[in-house]
Formats: sequence, C-alpha cells, structure tokens
Amino acid sequence: MEVKELMEKAVKFHGHSCPGLAIGVLISKYILENGNDFSIDEELVAVVENDNCSVDAIQALLGTTFGKGNLKYLDHGKNNYSFYNRTNKKAVKLSIKALSFGDRDMSREERLEKLLKAHPEDIFKIEKISFKPPNEAEIHQSLACDNCGELTMSTRLMEFENKKLCVPCYEKLSK
Ligand SMILES: [Zn+2]
Ligand SMILES: [Zn+2]
Repeated sequence: MEVKELMEKAVKFHGHSCPGLAIGVLISKYILENGNDFSIDEELVAVVENDNCSVDAIQALLGTTFGKGNLKYLDHGKNNYSFYNRTNKKAVKLSIKALSFGDRDMSREERLEKLLKAHPEDIFKIEKISFKPPNEAEIHQSLACDNCGELTMSTRLMEFENKKLCVPCYEKLSK
C-alpha cells in the first residue's frame, strides 16, 4: 500500500491528520514492508512506550490493538516502538532520532508531506532486538467484588479484611 492510502486509512480511525499519526504511518509501512502482515489475531505484538497519536496509526494499520491484547503500552514517555512476530520469531525496535521535521517556516501541511516522504532510516533508529514478546492475552474467570458486586477479572481482585475487592473498592475502603 502506498503511504497516501495508509495515511487515509489511519485518519479514518484516528479522526484527524497530524504529524504524530504520520509517524505511526511511517512505522507501520516499514513493518509491513519488512516481513510482517496485518495481524488478524496475535501474530504480531507491538510494545509502545507512549500513548500519543502515532499509536492509533499502528492499531489501524498493523492490527496490533488494545482490545486484542497484542498492543502493550509502557508509560515511559519515549517514542519507542518494538514489534515481535510470533510466526518468524523476529523482533525489531524503532526509536525516533529527531523530533523536528522540516524547517520552521514550512507550513504544517508541508511538514506533514515531507515527513510522509521520508525514509524510515532518516527518522528512526532501527535495530534488531531479541525475541521476547509479552505473554499472549489470557482469559481469566470473573468473580463478583465483595463490596460493589461488579464482576471483576479474578487476577485483579485484592484481599482486604477477608473480602475480595475490585481496584476502586479497595482504594476506597483501604484508606
Ligand atoms: Zn492526532
Ligand atoms: Zn468493587
């Protein structure tokens, strides 16, 4: 797919066109051109270290999504993106080299255009990393919280005064 088509598909999901989304489009294009396909199940896993606009492009174009569990978010505030392919056991990490794209006197559209035409190697440091993906999404049974009664994934219930509590109830009652 051409970068323009990828951008259009990403905008449909994200809502607007912006430099952050373009970064995610470039990353996705690189991943798709280097031995990966759109992830129907959990073949591909993305680990992102920020939660900005770029991650929406990655969800829309690579099928690594929050709901499927093959998108893992680490709150590091870094523009780092790692991908693990469970089929060929290969992993790659892209990190942004510079945050300014184009001259200051360029318009937002010009900068976006320039960004979309860039070679991934100019924008990202790209390195092979060892294949250590996060665990596949597990299904846990749900149990009722002893305080509010809402069904809660068993691994998230916490013990307090002989009761099993969900996170919000635990935070309220344990104070
Ligand atoms: Zn955006
Ligand atoms: Zn509760």
